[in-house]
Amino acid sequence: MTAILFQNATLVDATQTEAREGFDVLVEDDRIKEVSDSRINANDVRKIDLKGGTLMPGLVDAHVHVKATDLNLALLGVKPSSYIYAQTTKIMEGMLQRGFTTVRDAAGADKGLADAVDHGLIAGPRLRVCGLSLSQTGGHSDQRPVTVMSDVSSNERHNLMQHFGRLADGVDECRRAARDELRKGAHHVKIMAGGGVSSPTDPIENTQYSMEELIAINQEAAAWNTYTMAHTYTPRAIQMCVEAGTRTLEHCNLIDVETAEMIAEHDAYHVPTNITYWALNKHGKEYGFPDISIEKLKTIVDAGLGAVEISKNAGVKIGFGTDLLGPCHHYQANEFGLAAQVLGNHGALKASLETSAEIMYMENEIGKVQAGFKADLIVVDGNPLNDITCLENDGAKIPLVMRDGIIFKDTNGIA
Ligand SMILES: [Zn+2]
Repeated sequence: MTAILFQNATLVDATQTEAREGFDVLVEDDRIKEVSDSRINANDVRKIDLKGGTLMPGLVDAHVHVKATDLNLALLGVKPSSYIYAQTTKIMEGMLQRGFTTVRDAAGADKGLADAVDHGLIAGPRLRVCGLSLSQTGGHSDQRPVTVMSDVSSNERHNLMQHFGRLADGVDECRRAARDELRKGAHHVKIMAGGGVSSPTDPIENTQYSMEELIAINQEAAAWNTYTMAHTYTPRAIQMCVEAGTRTLEHCNLIDVETAEMIAEHDAYHVPTNITYWALNKHGKEYGFPDISIEKLKTIVDAGLGAVEISKNAGVKIGFGTDLLGPCHHYQANEFGLAAQVLGNHGALKASLETSAEIMYMENEIGKVQAGFKADLIVVDGNPLNDITCLENDGAKIPLVMRDGIIFKDTNGIA
């Protein structure tokens, strides 16, 4: 058994609106064993005196793409898998180093990557994966350019999309694709249910998949005792997904009041990802984001924070997502500042630590400094309840990161 005792910590999590001073936290193996506001006496433990420094749960991100190694996703089809894998490990290491200890992948990552983290082969965050996203022909995971004039063989389609999505059309293919991703170890199923920015041919305003197809995919996820997440922007697309039983609605930039109320009634979730639009708007051109995508971005970039406001006012449960691509991943924690503009500092923390944990059915495992929870802990130079920006800037003010009781970062040498 390995045991670590954090002494004199100021605790911050989303269970309270104020920081709590003078706590000791004992970690045994991969779990938090004891949390106490008086001194914990333990022998044979490694002691880390935080001298009043902030200790909080590892951050949780409910919408990432660890395999999005390029801004232009079509480029993923022309690189060897081994090269993309190597880049992916760097992206995952970056996430853990900036304090994210659990992330939910929204297209691309598979059980192999999740297991590699669990088995200590990659120093990344714990992964919840969907395998390949499900997309209709001409949908958000169809990266074929408009110049491909006829449908191609499934092998050729596969080469273009193997790192992100798969095409499935019609109820039978949708059932089969969902079952196949679950067979390969997906924790949840991702549906591309409306137009997207990074795909070349689908207008933002369209809906993707028929009601029958959406229902079939949701039935397969439910049969496996899991759920679907859906990529959507417009009220029309969101409403179809909610009606079909989808649990988490991603992005939702163009949502209206009626649709937000519908999400709340169905006890579903909204996972905004505003930092990716901010980053694409700032850097898209210089990093080679295709012109068509930059054009599409204009229709949604300014609506993002208003959408969060609409959901908040309707009582929708709001998660924390980032959706960053390629060289923009270092902005991951800057979503906190954007979310806080609408939700406040405590609300932004809650979206990550509690609501995103709940989305992954992990609310009794992660997101709190509490006995019995996983020992996912970070030390922060500052109090994010007062100033959330101390979590931003690529982990600059996060000197220590522990996941599953293992220390992966200790820049100040305090451990
Ligand atoms: Zn995404």
